[in-house]
Amino acid sequence: AKGEGKNTYRHYIDEMDAEIQRRRLLQTDLKRALVNNEMFIEYQPQIDIATNRLAGAEALLRWQHPERGRVPPDEFIPLAEQTGLIVEIGDWVLEEVCMQIRAWQDAGLPQVPIAVNLSSVQFRRDDLLERICSAMHAYDINPGLLEFEITESYVMNDPDAAISTMFDMREFGVKISVDDFGTGYSSLGYLRRFPVDKVKIDRSFVTDIEHDKDSATLAKAVVQLGHSLGLKVVAEGVETKGQLEFLQNQYCDLVQGYLFSKPLPARKFSEWLESSSI
Ligand code: C2E
Ligand code: CA
Ligand code: CA
Ligand code: CA
Repeated sequence: AKGEGKNTYRHYIDEMDAEIQRRRLLQTDLKRALVNNEMFIEYQPQIDIATNRLAGAEALLRWQHPERGRVPPDEFIPLAEQTGLIVEIGDWVLEEVCMQIRAWQDAGLPQVPIAVNLSSVQFRRDDLLERICSAMHAYDINPGLLEFEITESYVMNDPDAAISTMFDMREFGVKISVDDFGTGYSSLGYLRRFPVDKVKIDRSFVTDIEHDKDSATLAKAVVQLGHSLGLKVVAEGVETKGQLEFLQNQYCDLVQGYLFSKPLPARKFSEWLESSSI
């Protein structure tokens, strides 16, 4: 048993080394990913529960690594944040989304707002608004067609600064939604102070909504709180009809999830736009 313990320990060290090594390699590759055209964006439809119509989409970043294949964003975004590369990547996402909105508009397709995820690193920079503004101007995009998803956790560091940034964004005309809501319990009450338009119930609660009382209670509470503050409530990660029914019964406003569609390449999402008559 003694030898076994030692082996396990050795094994653990080896795995840690491998993990550190993997991250180092990924970081190097990440620096070249943009210039090498390895990144692209997918769009996941958001559906209005009441009308069953397309109401918008979330832009999700993808990295197709030449040897490793797809690297999940949950893996490379934190790396990009640590190295500061997220600022450049974030600019690229913004630019790419604006370019796409312009292309859809020029093709005469119906226009729906596109939600872009903002990293806390981007959110805290004082040139955030200039960067947003310059991408929108380059493609002559109406600010009402862009939405930014921010998670509640960024805000907790320095709530006053964050709230002031949100007011600036809002004045500029872009919409803001609070992502992954419910995961940072301490801040439930803060929602009242945020000048936002939407709140998204985190996927972890939606997944368990039918079978776990706490998740169901939290989802109900978020819908009620959101509505009492005049916000739209979005549920993400909706995969089953049962989950959808629960959310319908709670008068949740928008849903997003595999039940309707996975995130799609721009060309595939155009078909959604084509067949939606807004
Ligand atoms: P998120 O913002 O919470 O995005 C929702 C995630 O849930 C996406 O994962 C989406 O593909 C996934 N999803 C949607 N519906 C379902 C469903 O029904 N079932 C399941 N199992 N999953 C579903 P994804 O695309 O892997 O992105 C992961 C995270 O990476 C995002 O979480 C977001 O935090 C981050 N991310 C993605 N794109 C960007 C970006 O452009 N900028 C920044 N800063 N972060 C991004
Ligand atoms: Ca999001
Ligand atoms: Ca989310
Ligand atoms: Ca998330």
